[in-house]
Amino acid sequence: MKLIPHLFVFIFFLSSCSKDNIELISIGNDSSEPVVIKNFNLDAKPKNIILIIGDGTGLNQITLSRIAIGGPDYRLAIDQMPYTGFSLTHADNAIVTDSAASATSWAAGIKTTNKFLSMTPDGLSVPTIPELLAETGFISGLVATSSITHATPAAFYAHVDSRYKTKEIAEQLLSSPISIALGGGLEFFDISTTENLLLVSEKESLSIDKIKNYKKVIGLFDEDGIYRSTEKPTQQDMTNIALSFLSMKSKTCNGFFLMSEGSQIDWASHDNDAKAMVEEFKDFDKTIKDAMDFVTDNGETLLIITADHETGGLQILGQEKGSAKVQWGTGRHTGSPVGVYAYGPGAQAFTGLMDNTDIFTKILEAINYSNLDQSTCLN
Ligand SMILES: [Zn+2]
Repeated sequence: MKLIPHLFVFIFFLSSCSKDNIELISIGNDSSEPVVIKNFNLDAKPKNIILIIGDGTGLNQITLSRIAIGGPDYRLAIDQMPYTGFSLTHADNAIVTDSAASATSWAAGIKTTNKFLSMTPDGLSVPTIPELLAETGFISGLVATSSITHATPAAFYAHVDSRYKTKEIAEQLLSSPISIALGGGLEFFDISTTENLLLVSEKESLSIDKIKNYKKVIGLFDEDGIYRSTEKPTQQDMTNIALSFLSMKSKTCNGFFLMSEGSQIDWASHDNDAKAMVEEFKDFDKTIKDAMDFVTDNGETLLIITADHETGGLQILGQEKGSAKVQWGTGRHTGSPVGVYAYGPGAQAFTGLMDNTDIFTKILEAINYSNLDQSTCLN
């Protein structure tokens, strides 16, 4: 008699374990592409900062992508970044952060409440890196494969107590010091091209010759997040154009700041779709490869890569013939620390265990912000 409830519990346990959140991902056989790494003098100061964010990209998202592309011995571009560390990701009010609180930590250097953008938990606006840099002769740009009003890019220009106030966020982008913003989000804006502002919505119009004469460029390539297709620009396309634009425009100024986000690694992880996650990651890693080459050629740029949090509790459980067996623990974010990767002058500061807010401080220290004179970048 006593056995029956136990048996019932056991069967229930078995059935809940064999849920379809177990996925088999083929082990790839691509060969690694070595990235040229230059040595920088340890006292060299960067002029420019590139911050690349993989939304929801924990260490297992990186590990699984490595295995799926070329096997466990393959080396991604991100694997070849010369300096590495870890970042804690918690928010002010929760051990598991959302993208808004996490992006606020790098953008404004404070811990805040989930859903808040560059505001303290008490609702006070805190200046962001692009706002601080605009006062010292830098220009800034943002790239995302989500809407450009989505939490991560928005934390760099908007001050609101809810990431869902998209209309307000869109208006704040227009009055912000961001010179180039490329992503999705057409439905949140009511703008057209003027003498100073260029609105781009077609991939073919995203060329340096077509955008270089404008003071501000807003590229919106989908109504909301960018639906992946050959008709739409990738994170790699948008980042490369933003880098050309910012390097050209900042020639007579102190330098530039660019944040570029692979937004949909997070979305695929929320969906517990490992295949789609790897596809998103490929674009992210190609973006990193090009940014690393930019650092090598330019010589005055510091590249930092991190994530806001891990999404999905992704686990790599084992191998079944030619496949990796993976399982997701949740459809939500988790509280795991994430990797920090750096290359370029000042990169050595981004090692060891840090808080996500330390990334803000370290960026400003790298460019010697407290000793820069007030100036404006006119172009
Ligand atoms: Zn998310």
